[in-house]
Amino acid sequence: MKYISTRGGDIPVSGAAAIIRGLASDRGLYVPAELPRLDAGAAFGAESGGAAGGIAADATERPVFGAGYRAVARAVLGAFLPDYSEEEIRVCVDGAYDEKFDTPEIAPLVKTDKAYFLELWHGGTAAFKDMALSILPYLLKTAMRKEGEDKKVVILTATSGDTGKAALAGFADVPGTEIFVFYPKDGVSAVQERQMVTQTGANVHVYGIRGNFDDAQKGVKNVFNDAVFGEALAGRGLRLSSANSINIGRLVPQVAYYVYAYGKLLSDGEIQNGEAVNICVPTGNFGNILAAYYAKQIGVPIARLLCASNENKVLTDFLDTGVYDARREFILTSSPSMDILISSNLERLLWHLSGGDSEQIAYLMAGLERDGHYETGAGIKAGLRDFQGGFADMKKAHQSLARLCREEHYLIDTHTAVGYSVYLDDLAKTGDRTKTIIVSTASPYKFAGSVAASLGLPGEADEFAYMERIRAYTGAPIPAGLRGLEKKPALHTGVIDKDAIQSTVDFALRD
Ligand SMILES: *Cc1c(COP(=O)(O)O)cnc(C)c1O
Repeated sequence: MKYISTRGGDIPVSGAAAIIRGLASDRGLYVPAELPRLDAGAAFGAESGGAAGGIAADATERPVFGAGYRAVARAVLGAFLPDYSEEEIRVCVDGAYDEKFDTPEIAPLVKTDKAYFLELWHGGTAAFKDMALSILPYLLKTAMRKEGEDKKVVILTATSGDTGKAALAGFADVPGTEIFVFYPKDGVSAVQERQMVTQTGANVHVYGIRGNFDDAQKGVKNVFNDAVFGEALAGRGLRLSSANSINIGRLVPQVAYYVYAYGKLLSDGEIQNGEAVNICVPTGNFGNILAAYYAKQIGVPIARLLCASNENKVLTDFLDTGVYDARREFILTSSPSMDILISSNLERLLWHLSGGDSEQIAYLMAGLERDGHYETGAGIKAGLRDFQGGFADMKKAHQSLARLCREEHYLIDTHTAVGYSVYLDDLAKTGDRTKTIIVSTASPYKFAGSVAASLGLPGEADEFAYMERIRAYTGAPIPAGLRGLEKKPALHTGVIDKDAIQSTVDFALRD
């Protein structure tokens, strides 16, 4: 199976090569030329007591840490990366999904009155980015060995807050790599910023930029697209890659948790075999929901995909009209990891829905880069019918967060609350009773100030005091990775202009 560029201007490459490169040379994104079919037996069933049942059905049997999740991840990664041997995949999966996670289930599925929440934030940095970024370093290292890569890989990462820390944690002190993270100086939560600037590691570089996430992402993409700079780096034994979801090595591991969640509903007796479910995803760069689409395409019975946005609702409007228009005010919200107007991974969906029409994709993306908008053809529009867009403003998200906590004693974060609000709206509007999995993307403690405000807790001086307040109010444990952050020294204090990403990288690599 080969990976090709959405814009048609680069040669097909293996999965390993696509992971090393990150972005194709024609500025397109790598997509699987054809999607695999999942062997449902291997993915949902099998392996001692059901691969899907992370916790063995028999409660007296102690679960092997991560057993169920790892089996599913192996099946999914094997299907998408046939150039990796079974043994290579096993080593990657075992290295990633271990005691760095705070529960043997890795991704627990929690049942509430109206929906199931798939908690993807039990990894070291307390957001769903850990699901992919704890395995990406293993996939990349393996890829470098397989491809005989002799250069040092320099990973550039733009972050809306959560990718940065997860990438830093994954790549810190990984031999043969340097990791750079750029975050919007005023666009992340205090906890997110603390997590990043306190990161240790000899190969770690973190900068705030004066600009928003789109500026950071664009700046990083521009560095990739500068062929002259790339050649100069090659001469110095360096090669650029990406830890953003533009890297296919981020998306493939994310498919696994949708397969896992479906299998878990089955083994828990919540659904019949083959019964379709809906998936609701709080969305920013469109990576997480694209992984759900891939899960559907490879055989998981999924009916509708609900794409939830905050006030930056460019995707809601797009799914309604087929017109993508980023020419609007960028709004800072209490779900900062979704404050995005250029959703990179949408390009991949458009490619799939157009039947691989790379000319059309190149044309649309040129329009977006030049004019800030485009309108898709009829073929793509028809393909969008599996998706339903919706948005929730801060007031609405905070209300549904508070109600869920008050009435059902279940605490979610502000991003997940956007997803939950959109789901409730859709339920009221359509009456669609299909069982729905809402993706829970972050620990509520990462956004302690906004969560506390939603709950009506009294004001505090800083985010860390809010954490304590929430803990006292709800009894929910504070994730280990977030404890004591306020006492760690800030190691990275650089703030740069949004146009200075390339020169900053160049300079830092000369040290
Ligand atoms: C990254 C992130 C999102 C958005 O995910 P995408 O894959 O970019 O759509 C939503 N919520 C949280 C907490 C995140 O960190």
